[in-house]
Amino acid sequence: MSNSATKSAIVTGASGGIGSAIAKRLAKDGFSVVVNYAGKPAPAQAVIAEIKAAGGQGIAVQANVENAEDVQRLFKESMDAFGRPDVVVHCAGIMPLFPIASGDVAAFDKVIETNLRGTFLVFAQAAQHVLEGGRIMAFSSSVLAKSFPTYGAYIASKAGVEGLVHVLANELRGRNITVNAVAPGQVQTELFLKGKSDARIDELKKMNPLERLGQPEDMANVVSFLAGPEGGWINSQVVRPNGGFVY
Ligand code: NDP
Repeated sequence: MSNSATKSAIVTGASGGIGSAIAKRLAKDGFSVVVNYAGKPAPAQAVIAEIKAAGGQGIAVQANVENAEDVQRLFKESMDAFGRPDVVVHCAGIMPLFPIASGDVAAFDKVIETNLRGTFLVFAQAAQHVLEGGRIMAFSSSVLAKSFPTYGAYIASKAGVEGLVHVLANELRGRNITVNAVAPGQVQTELFLKGKSDARIDELKKMNPLERLGQPEDMANVVSFLAGPEGGWINSQVVRPNGGFVY
């Protein structure tokens, strides 16, 4: 971790359900937090207001993770404010669902650009700038193990994310930086709920033996652990906070 008084963390997609819980938790853990968002400034500003009201430090930075210049600017603005990051949590992602038979290549390309190319670009900057002893995380999904119909593009993109995680962990050999994927099961956010009937949500909820949906705070607990002093021996892993869904 850095020698500066305050550690810093960049969280992409930090205006969303899971990312906002992570940003607030890391601020509570003592990090200065950069709250990245793509298109909607109001939720990002609300996260910053909450962080500041609780005595923490943070800034909101707009950047589209699909765009190399945007991602470079995200890191530059973060470092201008708080110095080189100790922690990068790449949470931004989308999940449009459509069958492979649709042949909808525009929708496929969009998922790959946001989820996979976005991870490559964020990892490139993180690899250049994260301090020795730092932590890098990206979000995958437990749904990889289910191969549900209509999840093809999403699952392909997240399988790619997991591949990048293992390679980056090896590329950072010697710098004491961990790289891990967090792969949640169903978490009660806009991304998960959108387009699903109450009956389908209930069915998905009961697929884990705890019979509830994950909450964003369940994911923030995991990220806090991986970012904190006790998480340092976990490296190149896919951590699956999913309540037992999958098995
Ligand atoms: P939300 O839809 O609640 O939030 C998504 C976030 O990503 C928003 O902050 C959004 O910003 C941002 N975002 C989307 N596209 C871009 C982009 N091109 N550039 C920068 N930011 C972008 O989703 P969740 O919080 O549920 O999901 C977070 C992560 O967790 C995702 O990677 C998702 O795949 C993963 N995940 C989620 C699960 C779930 O059940 N919820 C399960 C497994 C994995 P804006 O609103 O400004 O566009």
